[in-house]
Amino acid sequence: MRTKWLTIPIVGIEWTVYLTDEDDADLRDSNEHKSLEGRCLFWKNIILVNRRLPVSRLPDVLLHEVLHAVVFLSGARETCGLGESDDEEKIVVTLAGPLTAALAACGALKFPDLKPPVAKKEKR
Ligand SMILES: [Zn+2]
Repeated sequence: MRTKWLTIPIVGIEWTVYLTDEDDADLRDSNEHKSLEGRCLFWKNIILVNRRLPVSRLPDVLLHEVLHAVVFLSGARETCGLGESDDEEKIVVTLAGPLTAALAACGALKFPDLKPPVAKKEKR
């Protein structure tokens, strides 16, 4: 079951972030059939985050998925020639860690504010 966590404007479009369970089919890797930490559903403006992650991992995973959305919406795939999804993943992984650290260091990431809600549930 998905729980609505946040809405985030990304490149002028509102995206909804849901916490979800490992058995959510959209959170499973299509090749390896394993559960992911997070995933963008690009054509639905949805980001899924695995609710089983420790709270300390949530900012990094959320920013990782936001970067995927930015790459998708900004046209960076085309302008940077990102033909393979592995290329995009390398760029996102390379940027997400330092970006999270920079935002956390200047106080822009307030970890208590990123705690997911507990009770509110929403149907898919
Ligand atoms: Zn990724």
